[in-house]
Amino acid sequence: MEVNTTYDLLIIGGGPIGMACAIEAQKKGLNYIILEKGALVNSLFNYPLYMTFFSTAERLEVGNVPFSCIAPKPGRQEALEYYRNIQKHFNLNIRLFEKVVSVNKDVNGNFNVMSEKAAYVAKNVVIATGFYDIPVYMDVPGENLPHVRHYYKEAHEYAFRKVLVVGANNSSVDAALESWHKGADVTMVIRKGEINDRVKYWIKPDVENRIAEGSIKAYYYSSITEIRDKEVDISTPEGSVTIASDFVLALTGYRPDIDFLKSCGINTHDDVLCVPVYNPETMETNVPGLYLAGVVCGGMETHKWFIENSRVHAQMIVRDIVTANESD
Ligand code: FAD
Repeated sequence: MEVNTTYDLLIIGGGPIGMACAIEAQKKGLNYIILEKGALVNSLFNYPLYMTFFSTAERLEVGNVPFSCIAPKPGRQEALEYYRNIQKHFNLNIRLFEKVVSVNKDVNGNFNVMSEKAAYVAKNVVIATGFYDIPVYMDVPGENLPHVRHYYKEAHEYAFRKVLVVGANNSSVDAALESWHKGADVTMVIRKGEINDRVKYWIKPDVENRIAEGSIKAYYYSSITEIRDKEVDISTPEGSVTIASDFVLALTGYRPDIDFLKSCGINTHDDVLCVPVYNPETMETNVPGLYLAGVVCGGMETHKWFIENSRVHAQMIVRDIVTANESD
């Protein structure tokens, strides 16, 4: 139990932005702690093994520490190396594999934060929990079958198998191309009429050409209606189609834990996009002393915030806390 220490700042989430907040707090002499439910930068750790970032290395930097890599864009391994080095360099006060389960404000205005391992007291809390832990489900029968995956790691197990990939964003396109290159028979099911414009510019023509030449099959304006052990029903503009499938990669996106935000008292602007209420100048939510940082700020709009444009949240939050302390 940690109830004897009152932290100036408790940061939930040890991703790049949680780390950026900690670095800023450390620079300003605040007594802080990060609680991270998994490994350091757990979301990046869980990315596909051979994934390449769309950002250049310098746009993933935190704490003004240079991130250099040989290729124009870094891959997952280099990013993990970089953020491990950040941890070594700053020796941040972080506890790994410790999930936060609740945040409540007490009558004195302090936050009581419960993890699965201990209780903490803090004057301010930053939630930097990202969006990669909860898949956006399709809600179709068979989605829970063991051969249906919502995360893609690497292609080897899909080689020489029939693989159906749902979606047309970066994750789906990377998975479709890698699996096809390793010998999978790949079919894509795409809700709209084209590959998404956000797909990495050097990857998009590749997948479009594979589809045009028929190496990868694609059903546009289509969606899955049912998954069974060995086959899948697809609703297409030409009617329902059933195709054989050994694996379904339902890479239909991810979303933040909105229920957790609400349980902390944070309001959302509506119940569809669930964008949380916060002051864009300070990142403070409707609960005084409770801040949001990083991609969690977008609610269901998960393409609004990235590492490169949310690193600045760290300075905004710590500046607000320091200013409030000075005026106390
Ligand atoms: P995260 O990195 O997701 O960190 C949140 C952390 O909080 C996680 O480590 C998680 O384990 C932890 N956590 C969650 N809940 C709890 C809890 N209850 N208690 C304790 N800890 C908790 N962005 C870019 O800028 N450039 C890119 O090129 C890029 N490529 C991407 C590729 C993929 C495949 C994906 C999925 C995303 C990509 N992004 C990219 C977006 C990127 O994920 C985010 O920008 C980045 O991870 C956001 O950092 P973050 O710290 O806000 O969130």
